[in-house]
Parts: sequence; structure tokens; C-alpha cells
Amino acid sequence: MTAMEKYAVGIARCDEYSPEGTAEAVRLAVERAGGLPGSVGNSVLIKVNALAPAAPESAVTTHPQVLRGIIREIRRTGGDEVKIKIADNPGYIYTDMTNLFRVTGMTEIAGMEGVEIGPLSDFGTSLVGGDKLKVLTDARISVRYLDAPYCINAAKLKTHVETEMSGCIKNIFGTSDTDTRKKAHRSTSHMRLAEAIVDLYSIRPPDFHVMDAIVGMEGDGPSHGNPRPLGWVLAGNNALAVDWVACTIMCYEDPMSINLIKAAAKRGIGPSGRSGITLEGAGWSDLPSPGFKHSSGAIRLLPTFLRGLAHGLVKISPGLAAGKCIRCGICKKVCPVDAIVDVRSYPSVDSKKCVRCLCCHEMCPTGAMEVRKNFFASLVSGPKE
Ligand code: SF4
Ligand code: SF4
Repeated sequence: MTAMEKYAVGIARCDEYSPEGTAEAVRLAVERAGGLPGSVGNSVLIKVNALAPAAPESAVTTHPQVLRGIIREIRRTGGDEVKIKIADNPGYIYTDMTNLFRVTGMTEIAGMEGVEIGPLSDFGTSLVGGDKLKVLTDARISVRYLDAPYCINAAKLKTHVETEMSGCIKNIFGTSDTDTRKKAHRSTSHMRLAEAIVDLYSIRPPDFHVMDAIVGMEGDGPSHGNPRPLGWVLAGNNALAVDWVACTIMCYEDPMSINLIKAAAKRGIGPSGRSGITLEGAGWSDLPSPGFKHSSGAIRLLPTFLRGLAHGLVKISPGLAAGKCIRCGICKKVCPVDAIVDVRSYPSVDSKKCVRCLCCHEMCPTGAMEVRKNFFASLVSGPKE
């Protein structure tokens, strides 16, 4: 793409997950984005967000009705013979994939539509290195994903306690294995994590992106935020362009204040401003969702030009609400730096070791590992009430 060309993002209104209404919104968004690019061939992988065994209405995962709409678009373009597989590597503590896909409602839709569903790493992983990696020395990526002739990224609009937003680029983090994800998290620098996510994205960008923003997540996502009706389906062939539109829905005046967006834009994987995007289906002023609650790590009460400086002063850390803890040990398993020890069978965080990645918060099944803010964070950061 030349500097003069713009990235098209198609957007369509959809206020509920009705089967026909959702399919029509996906169709419209895809059409407004210029349609699925190239030939879908005879095999398409749909990389979903299946973070955890959570019901569709919890807004943790891509809604099955959006997947149904995507399946219909693939068949409209490529015919009924196209082989389609829905897949993901979930949060790495979940090994019962059959249950996970059942709870998210994806298994039922896959059965109704006659497509395959399963883990993304059923063919193992491959070690990848090279120039595209700037902060990771190498990464283990799903072979099925790397070898997919055509891949559609079916993302979910959510907040994220560490990266502020989780959309198309972040969804590709899930194509890597546990060790790679732990390596990416092993730093106190949020910018380093953002760069690591862009590393993983750059290895093999999907061919097209559809984002479920009918009901998104606000607050401390991506697991423990609150569902927030937003009423949109987004589509486009550039992940950063679609994420940029999503940030506008989330009321970010300048998406470049988000490390992940800034890192991706600086790497040149998409537009670095609104002027590089052609939005089809709505006007920019139609997008913001009033009162949208950002995550605890998001700085909102400072002007944009001061936010980069303030990031170093904002500290959010895990803290145990013992009354909610079921002592399952998951937080200890996911911690990338072994900062969690057992104290009388309850988890206790060693603050000297902790890099504040908040993986323990993200993966805690009960929300017992809460997000605690330092004084400065409580002054300037979200979520707002
Ligand atoms: S804090 Fe959460 S993840 Fe850790 S042991 Fe308690 S319930 Fe399990
Ligand atoms: S204790 Fe939690 S926040 Fe700290 S490094 Fe471990 S997983 Fe990350």
C-alpha cells in the first residue's frame, strides 16, 4: 500500500445477537470494507477469541452468532465446498477444550453450520525467528495457523488491564504457545509487551479481520470487566485500522496514547492516524460510546501529550481478596516470573519479583486476584464511574 492509499474499515449497526440480524450486520460490514480480499480458496481458518470457558453473554469470547455470519460470508464468496475450521489456543491453563468450546456456544454453531472446531495447535508449534521480531528472539507459533492458506481473525472488542485494549492485533497473541506468552510478559515495561505482541502479529498477519463489538467489555478486561452493549460489527483487511476504529468506539480521543496502537503504527503495519482510514457505514462522530469505562491501567485524567510521561508513575498490581479465593493454584501456574508462593495454602505475591503483568488477575477464575492501584494511578487512571 502506498502512502496515499487508505485502509478501508466497514462498520454496521447491530444491537443484539439475533441469528439473522447478526449475519446481516457481518455481511454489510464485510461488503463495506470491500469484501473478503482475493480468493478464499478451499480452506479457511477462523481464529477466534476463546480466552476462557465463559458463556457468550459474559463478553469474554467472540460471540457464536458473529462466527455464523463469518461462515456465511466465506461460503458466499467461496462456495459451500470450502473447508472451514474454528480454532484458538485459549488461556493456557485450560486443557479441556471440548468443554471450553461448548460453554462459549461455539460448538453448537459449528455443528449447525457443518464446520470443524478445535484447538489451534493440534499440529504442534513451530519455532520462528527473523527480522520481524524486534523484542522477542524467537517465538513458538501454531503450525495450523502458520500454514493456513487463508485466515480470518474473529476478534472481540474488550478492554485489557495491561494493554488497555484487546482487538484484532492482540487476538493474534493467542497463536503462540505458553512459553512464548510468558516470555512476552516477563517485563515491567508495558511498551515491551506491546512490541512483543506486534512481533507475534507480524509473523503472519491474517487475511481479513471481523470484530464483534455488538456487546464489548469495559472496565478491567479481558476476563473480569463488564459487558457493555456497543452495537457494532467491524471489518477490514488491516488489523490496525480496525483496532483504531474500535479505540474510537471506546472513547479514546487519541488511540496513539495506547502502547499497542503506537507500537503497531510505528512498525508500519497500518495507519498512524484517522486520515489513513476510510470508514464506510458510519461517521467518526457516531462511534464513541459515552461513559465507556477504560481499564485500571489507562490514564484518562491527563492531556494526551502528558500520558507517555505519566505511564512510569502509574502502578497497578495484583492483590488477593481472600474471601473470593478457592485456592485453585491457577495464578501460581500462570505467573511468568514465579512471583506467587503459597502462604498457608493461599497465594501470596512476592512484590520484589512481580513484574505487574496481571496474568494472575486475568486468569483467576473467581476474580479473587484483584487489581490494586498506587496513589498516582488512583488519581489519573480508569475505570471511571
Ligand atoms: S487467587 Fe484466583 S487463581 Fe489464585 S488460587 Fe485464588 S482463586 Fe485460584
Ligand atoms: S504475581 Fe501476577 S502480576 Fe505479578 S508477575 Fe506474577 S502473574 Fe504477573
